[in-house]
Amino acid sequence: MNEEIAQLTLLQAIDHIIDTIDSDIQEEQEALDIKSAELADREVTIGTLTEKIETLEKESRMLEVEIADARVHVKDRQSKMMQVQTGREQTALLKEIEDGKKGVKEKEDKVVDILEETEQLTADIEENKNLFKGETELLLEETEKVKKAIAAINKKKRTQEKKRKTQANKLNTQMLKKYDTLRTHRNGLGVVNVLGGVCQGCFMAIPPQQYNLLLRGDKHFDCPTCQRIMYHESVEEAEA
Ligand SMILES: [Zn+2]
Repeated sequence: MNEEIAQLTLLQAIDHIIDTIDSDIQEEQEALDIKSAELADREVTIGTLTEKIETLEKESRMLEVEIADARVHVKDRQSKMMQVQTGREQTALLKEIEDGKKGVKEKEDKVVDILEETEQLTADIEENKNLFKGETELLLEETEKVKKAIAAINKKKRTQEKKRKTQANKLNTQMLKKYDTLRTHRNGLGVVNVLGGVCQGCFMAIPPQQYNLLLRGDKHFDCPTCQRIMYHESVEEAEA
């Protein structure tokens, strides 16, 4: 490996660390975002349940009014029974009274059902509110932790960035620019090893002639497929 490539691989190693640090920061932040979203969802659930209760209570109040009206109507029909003369009129009135009573009973049953449903919903709201409270406290603690973790990670990052600057100064501007561009467009990998005639960036075979030249160790080429800067270093050398 020639000196320039050696310096470039050192730079890439630092860049890799910086990338890892960046993804660590992102991970910490994302975990927090997920929890925040869950909390917002719970708030929406509480709102929906509360609205449901309001609707049910409104319905119940309307039913109470209807029941009162129906009762008045039944009483009115009952008092009219004294005045009717014919059997036919009596039968008609009796039917009206029966229907009226049946209607009242149905509405009263409905009011009871609503009451039960409302009680269940109130319990659900209570449970969600308790969870919300606990989760909010946890999220606050978690946010504090993540803030500290990110600050520590950023400190590490600054150290690595200083190292990077020093390392980058060892390279000529043109080479550095090429490497930076490749890293941006080639998934963070600008300079790659070639093993067994295969580019370790895109895993495509390179022409044998080029590989033979690479094996001599002092040359470097651009990969014909992915354009990354290629060098050769045997596995044993790399581990040494
Ligand atoms: Zn390649």
